[in-house]
Amino acid sequence: MPRPIQATIHTEALRHNLARMRDAAPDARVWAVVKANAYGHGIECVYDALRGADGFALLDLQEAERVRALGWRGPILLLEGVFEPRDLELCSRLSLWHTVHCDEQIDWLAAHKTQVPHRVFLKLNSGMNRLGFTPQRFRAAWARLDALPQVEEISFMTHFSDADGTRGVAHQVRAFDEATRDLPGERTLSNSAAALRHAGDAHVRGDWIRPGIAVYGSAPDFPQNDIAHWGLQPTMTLATRILAVQQLQAGDSVGYGSSFTAEGPIRIGVIACGYADGYPRHCGTGTPVLVDGVRTRLLGRVSMDMIAVDLTPVPQAGSGAPVTLWGRAADGAILPIDEVAAAAGTLGYELMCALAPRVPVVVAE
Ligand SMILES: *Cc1c(COP(=O)(O)O)cnc(C)c1O
Repeated sequence: MPRPIQATIHTEALRHNLARMRDAAPDARVWAVVKANAYGHGIECVYDALRGADGFALLDLQEAERVRALGWRGPILLLEGVFEPRDLELCSRLSLWHTVHCDEQIDWLAAHKTQVPHRVFLKLNSGMNRLGFTPQRFRAAWARLDALPQVEEISFMTHFSDADGTRGVAHQVRAFDEATRDLPGERTLSNSAAALRHAGDAHVRGDWIRPGIAVYGSAPDFPQNDIAHWGLQPTMTLATRILAVQQLQAGDSVGYGSSFTAEGPIRIGVIACGYADGYPRHCGTGTPVLVDGVRTRLLGRVSMDMIAVDLTPVPQAGSGAPVTLWGRAADGAILPIDEVAAAAGTLGYELMCALAPRVPVVVAE
């Protein structure tokens, strides 16, 4: 028997969340963002559920090839554009739409020999200060692109730094509206947080939204709001089983560094999951976990292959009992990935992307 750990990808939940994002911006088209191997879910595992999207957005050219290999003939957008001139050949061959965020990319396009007209998304740096032309240099970049025979259509993009927080998006929307005023073309601004929190404003919705994290069942603004608030469902379950049960007495400790010491008699389970499976080592005593669908807590340090859990609320659970690290238990109980991430001082994004290759993945309804 293989080690009992397993990740399950929930097809119905992916469909549900995609539909939820469509509802959030009903008159916009939806890019399903599948970068980072579909946020750790596996592009091939999510493709069927997400093919109802209007397009797929990603960064890696090999991932674009994988989406085409699955039979997708619709739009694919490279969110960071091309990384070197010869990437444009793949864009021509696979008809990939690509972001243009710097002058070098325009130089490469100008030198690119192609019969295939390119669709590009010109990126404005509206305040995030990662990628894009500043408002001062935006028009000149547009004029250069507009003059290229290689370019058929120019659309406009920007990315928000604070869609999930108190600063919000208004200052960046203003910069975007100003920079793109009177320029013809489609517009895309919103990630998950903007689409859920600010999509009441048509300027924020634009023509396309670009949700990633919400499609994968994590609340972009946790802990202010959780997935129940946004009507999202977990799309990844990480589950395992109890390998062994230990009975501790007062003064006994568990695991490396003896970081948990029992104050009185306590039954603990040792489960087959550790940081080598992608479970964060920073989760300490008290991090929530489900045993037999019942909420309990981690005890002591996460080691490479094992973690101890408190069996006090589940006296019936013994060796072999099912354990849910995040996602959905068999009885329907839910442990949002965001709660586990918060216990490790990080985000659901990082946990799902870090699912380790040694964990077998199955696709379910
Ligand atoms: C990753 C990414 C997104 C999706 O962001 P979420 O917060 O996961 O919804 C959208 N746009 C760009 C440019 C991105 O890089």
